[in-house]
Amino acid sequence: MPRKTEIKDYIRTIVDFPHEGIMFRDVTTLFADPRGFRMAIDQLLHPYAGVRFDKVVGLEARGFILGGAVAHQLSAGFVPIRKKGKLPGAVISEEYQLEYGEAVVEIHDDAIEAGEKVLLVDDLLATGGTAEAGIKLVERLGGQIIGCAFVIDLPELGGRKRLEAMDMDVHALCA
Ligand code: 5GP
Repeated sequence: MPRKTEIKDYIRTIVDFPHEGIMFRDVTTLFADPRGFRMAIDQLLHPYAGVRFDKVVGLEARGFILGGAVAHQLSAGFVPIRKKGKLPGAVISEEYQLEYGEAVVEIHDDAIEAGEKVLLVDDLLATGGTAEAGIKLVERLGGQIIGCAFVIDLPELGGRKRLEAMDMDVHALCA
């Protein structure tokens, strides 16, 4: 097997998951590899060297794994954005469109203070619907999003353009 040198070498594609016709980018192989995981966290952090963040916001569920490690490196707090009904305290919610139907994501209403500087983290940017809902939640609490960081960007699905149209700074490690 050739030596793995880039992030994308650690990511595998599963055909027809979760349903037929979908090529699912599986990052569990990246997370499971000691060098791969370290490289991913280092590269996610790279543009933000010297920048002070108060909070890292991770999107359920793979954004928790990445976001926790990133928050630790930044000495920032970690805040989860979860699917509807999972967070125990008082929440605010955002609904967004999926290919078929809608989804709702939530954040604790006291998780971010007005003016706090936030880095949003997830594994993959596709249409940008999930990230946009997350951005709206953070901004409704008065947080200031300094960056949105992803391991994978699928540019043909328009997520980057969508976030950049919201004046977001988008950082991704591979396509
Ligand atoms: P979007 O809202 O940008 O269309 O989809 C991105 C969200 O769906 C992310 O939270 C991401 O975890 C998940 N997602 C969609 N497709 C994939 C995929 O192929 N692989 C992985 N790992 N996550 C995906």
